[in-house]
Amino acid sequence: MSEGFIRSTRHRLALVEANSRLVALGLNKGTSGNVSLRWDDGFLVTPSGMAPAAIRPEDIVFLDMDGTPRGSRAPSSEWRIHRDIYAAHPEVGGVVHGHPPFCVALAVLHKPIPAYHYMVAKAGGSDIRCAPYATYGTQRLSELALAALDGRKACLLANHGMIAIGPTLDAAMALAVEVEELAEGYWRALQIGQPVLLDEAEMAQVLEKFATYGENAQSGPAA
Ligand code: 13P
Ligand code: ZN
Repeated sequence: MSEGFIRSTRHRLALVEANSRLVALGLNKGTSGNVSLRWDDGFLVTPSGMAPAAIRPEDIVFLDMDGTPRGSRAPSSEWRIHRDIYAAHPEVGGVVHGHPPFCVALAVLHKPIPAYHYMVAKAGGSDIRCAPYATYGTQRLSELALAALDGRKACLLANHGMIAIGPTLDAAMALAVEVEELAEGYWRALQIGQPVLLDEAEMAQVLEKFATYGENAQSGPAA
């Protein structure tokens, strides 16, 4: 067992667990989706085309920032998206890609999630954009996804799914859950009418409040 493998075991296990959790949460099915975290001078990512329940720590693939893989499995076909996000966003430590049903329902209509609920600001702005369609696994899709993520921590991918990013894998996972919740809420509202949208000024206020939201959660409620 290589020294690099031993050092990264905890992170490999975290990816295996996160990938399975996406299935348990109903955010992915079959071999859809992939997760990664920044590691050393590159990143660790789930293998391509494997069912989450079958993935073991040794199946996780390390890639350097040139995209050179080290591992016995082929890396996720979306490794370019993961690599390009880590390269463009030094603050990002984890990336989650999935095909959650309500995100997909909106993404097949090329519908972004507008400011219909203040929690949309959790993704970093006043909307969650939908990147135009491109074939899965292509550099073009990565470019479109990165543009949709500009100033945001999540986006939809037209006719495909969603991406959530965060400072840690846990943060990216939590945001993925929230974005699917937001997609479901928007989808539900669209069944009965036209949602009333919050304006830019209101969303700016929410974004400001989110900058310190939950800051004292570790040490108990703020005095
Ligand atoms: P991988 O199995 O290659 O990660 O692909 C799944 C996917 O969601 C492609 O967009
Ligand atoms: Zn996908």
